[in-house]
Amino acid sequence: MSTFLWRTTGLVMLAVLMSLGPTSLAQTKPGLGTASKSPADKAIDGAFSKLRTMRRPADGVALLTTLLEDKTFSAVQRQKVARELEVWQKREADKLVRSGTSWITAEEKTRREKEADLLIEKAFLLIDTKDYRSAREALEKASRTDDAGLRADFLLGLLNTPILANSPETAEKHFRKVLTRSPNHIPTLNNLALCCVRQKEFSKAYECWRQLGEVAPNTPELSHNLGRLLDESGKGLINLGNSEKKRFQDLYLDIATGENAPDRYKQGGWRYMHLTLPKEEADRTPVRDASSLILAASGTGFAILPGVVLTNRHVVNDAHSIRVDVETASGWTSLEAKVKAVSDTLDLAIVECPKLVSPAVQVSTGAQRRGSEVMILGYPKPGALGRTLKTTRGSVTALPSSDYDGMLLFDATANPGNSGGPIVDQNGNVIAVLTVGFDLKGQLTGGVTMSDALKFIQFHYGDYQPKQGGKKLEWPDVDELIAKSTVMVGVYQQVVKLGAGTGGAAGQATKSSGSYIEDNACSFCGGSQMVTCSAKGCSRGGMSVTETVQAGTNPVTGQALFKSVTRKVSCGTCGGTGKIDCPRCH
Ligand SMILES: [Zn+2]
Ligand SMILES: [Zn+2]
Repeated sequence: MSTFLWRTTGLVMLAVLMSLGPTSLAQTKPGLGTASKSPADKAIDGAFSKLRTMRRPADGVALLTTLLEDKTFSAVQRQKVARELEVWQKREADKLVRSGTSWITAEEKTRREKEADLLIEKAFLLIDTKDYRSAREALEKASRTDDAGLRADFLLGLLNTPILANSPETAEKHFRKVLTRSPNHIPTLNNLALCCVRQKEFSKAYECWRQLGEVAPNTPELSHNLGRLLDESGKGLINLGNSEKKRFQDLYLDIATGENAPDRYKQGGWRYMHLTLPKEEADRTPVRDASSLILAASGTGFAILPGVVLTNRHVVNDAHSIRVDVETASGWTSLEAKVKAVSDTLDLAIVECPKLVSPAVQVSTGAQRRGSEVMILGYPKPGALGRTLKTTRGSVTALPSSDYDGMLLFDATANPGNSGGPIVDQNGNVIAVLTVGFDLKGQLTGGVTMSDALKFIQFHYGDYQPKQGGKKLEWPDVDELIAKSTVMVGVYQQVVKLGAGTGGAAGQATKSSGSYIEDNACSFCGGSQMVTCSAKGCSRGGMSVTETVQAGTNPVTGQALFKSVTRKVSCGTCGGTGKIDCPRCH
């Protein structure tokens, strides 16, 4: 089987794998079929759902070509795949690129992007002059024009948060649109959760923050907002049910340990995050304001040459900038680094970090034996577990096969953040690069073998010759040896600030600081400073008064006849408005 086809098998598999790093967890769901479907149907469903996220026609052609090799398909199934293959072959021949859900020429894509860029730039100027209506129109047009861009809908979302227009339903709609284009977009997940809290949609808020906790547990706004939610609930300003409260508490404890100071949330309001952009879109966005970078995710890597680190492609994807963090005797040092190369065919990337002094690892590129013992080193879940290096042990569970992307499989546990870390044998040789966890709570993991990685490394460093250690060591000695070469790879994204940071529509104090905008609006009234009138019997300002009145006289007996009459009167407490001043912020 050629390398080309080998890769495409991998693409099918990746649909059911959970990447142990910053790649989309949402993308892992579609590949799994239902229990009643045949394996052939499941394979086709899995491949077709993967096609929906593919950016290059060549990848689709390769995947479908491999799929057609399946001899178990019925005539109907073959025909279905062949028809789809024709579509992708035509896209390849016409040199089309994906833009959202459509396929267009590269020239057309560039043209649309430029048009959207101009509209967004215009919107920024309109926001500066506080002409939000025209800004909104420009942004809505930009979103339709470039249906892959994140900026327009993100800004529309932010414009509708309590910081400005205070229309959380509208904000939610736009933030959800951003997520259909980029399922794990960090600031969107956080801001959407806040809009759900404002609408008292606490389960939806939980889902957003839970996902954010998996993608980027280090996000300080995440622990801050979760802590604030629990704090406000404790003060009776937000009404969470008991089971709901428990879920939020568990999530908070999961992410807000280690370096995230647990009590900081007590100062300051809700934190909305500024926009961050994947590299491609950031490059065409003019930098406004003092722009800064936020840590979007992290992975693991190891030195293969002086100042050269090997890690996963999916760790560095979409990074605006990369830093290599190293633990030294005096604490952590963060070193400047840049992506030197990413592999087209393997989930590998080379990062250059000139100031890195870590020694290069020993490497074994020979055949591995099933059942032999291994150790994984890395930085799993740094938000929850802290930044110290962690190791786990296990053995080789399966040898490379096209069924799982040509990777070696292991039963040593790994978690998000482990991606790109070394998998080491007992002689202290790196045998593979940890890449994915199978969806079994990360208990079965896969890695790209160093013999595959070698071709990629040598393509960029022609004279690279791996050194191999010979002597069998005690495991703690293996740990000590490889720990010196293992580093944390931090993925940063550029923050793009909206030109309006203060003076919310709700009249509450808001301030823009660092990577977030703070909303100090009262949680009890949602910043409107008014709450529903609580007077007994008051319904939207009206009260029903029932009186007994004389309806006439009985003509026979001459007795008075009575009846009940209900009439509406204005509520005295709220003066007929149905709203009273918020007792918590007045
Ligand atoms: Zn209030
Ligand atoms: Zn009333």
